[in-house]
Amino acid sequence: MSFQKTCGPCSGDGWIENRHDTCPVCNGVGYIVMAGDSDDYVRCGPCSGDGWIDNRHDICGTCGGCGKLESP
Ligand SMILES: [Zn+2]
Ligand SMILES: [Zn+2]
Repeated sequence: MSFQKTCGPCSGDGWIENRHDTCPVCNGVGYIVMAGDSDDYVRCGPCSGDGWIDNRHDICGTCGGCGKLESP
């Protein structure tokens, strides 16, 4: 089972950096396919769930930009 989540770093439009670069998190498709069920995940702390750290300069390394972590 899997579910789709709107991509945080690009807000679902597939672009980052003012439409200069294709979003590396979703490869430009605008959403992320997550394994399992949404209840299996919690919001990523370091990026507050939006996939960015350092003022939207870097993709969050903790969650890889998806904004979610598997529940402990
Ligand atoms: Zn994206
Ligand atoms: Zn994160």
